[in-house]
Amino acid sequence: MKVGFIGLGVMGRPMAKNLLKAGYEVVCCDHHPEHVRELTDAGAAAAANGCEIARQCERIITMLPNSPHVKDAVLGPGGVLEGARPGTVLIDMSSIAPLASQEISRACAEKGVEMLDAPVSGGEPKAIDGTLAIMAGGKRAVFDQMTEMLRAMGSSVVYCGEIGAGNTTKLANQVIVALNIAAVSEAFMLAQKTGVDPAQVFEAIKGGLAGSTVMNAKVPMILGQNFKPGFRIDLHIKDLNNALETGHGVGAPLPLTASVMEMLQTLHADGFGSEDHSAIARWYQKIAGCEIGG
Ligand code: NAD
Repeated sequence: MKVGFIGLGVMGRPMAKNLLKAGYEVVCCDHHPEHVRELTDAGAAAAANGCEIARQCERIITMLPNSPHVKDAVLGPGGVLEGARPGTVLIDMSSIAPLASQEISRACAEKGVEMLDAPVSGGEPKAIDGTLAIMAGGKRAVFDQMTEMLRAMGSSVVYCGEIGAGNTTKLANQVIVALNIAAVSEAFMLAQKTGVDPAQVFEAIKGGLAGSTVMNAKVPMILGQNFKPGFRIDLHIKDLNNALETGHGVGAPLPLTASVMEMLQTLHADGFGSEDHSAIARWYQKIAGCEIGG
């Protein structure tokens, strides 16, 4: 079966390669020719744009940075809807605003195109292993038809509700991860300033109630002052921006998210936007005047 794939960045390239490995024919496009070349070298076909892809494929995946990019690739000139036939299924796996998913889905419906929003968690290593966590929204029947294909990219594929529910779930994930990194940074700075070895604190508490996947992944990075991404600060700013906008729209209070957003904005202004989000620790280090683990 032919699958279209639009957006071959850090995540899209390994995800598209896993579709090839699972036996799907992939037709792809991206603004960067070198990204496309990596996929054609692996056996995919190239297309000029979303319209050309939609003329050939009844299933199309988008993996793009944010809402405007997905709107452009789907609704814009040369976009998916220019070439799509009724019955086509669009699966947007980007992390975007839930309201944007709903808007794009309405435009798709006018052309008889079904849409799922199916963002992922897990980052590049899990995209490479095909073990992403995929959280999907849309019609249940469409989700059921697409599950097998999604399993080529993820080990967990969960239906969350109507269109937009996948991205709401992803925003909840991103809020928890950001606040957790800030909490870990705050607590480990307390240990550092008090003269207790943060490495020992980690050893003592990681198996208790405060322990978390975030703690296990990020504390070794913070102790080693290794902020190589990973998941970039700038991408997390994008996600928290979507979370705050969504929260304001529905009346959900997000005071802690707003605080961590300010830390991220400071880090961006200080030139750390391309570092891993574990660099939230840098914000505490700047205020406290010392390194955690230093
Ligand atoms: P990226 O910036 O590495 O890649 C995006 C790609 O989209 C680029 O290659 C760009 O050229 C291409 N692109 C942009 N607009 C296009 C268009 N109109 N047509 C064709 N190609 C276009 O981003 P990424 O890290 O792969 O992330 C993609 C999405 O996945 C984001 O929403 C991100 O938040 C989410 N995500 C990323 C990670 C991660 O660890 N990087 C983890 C989970 C989820």
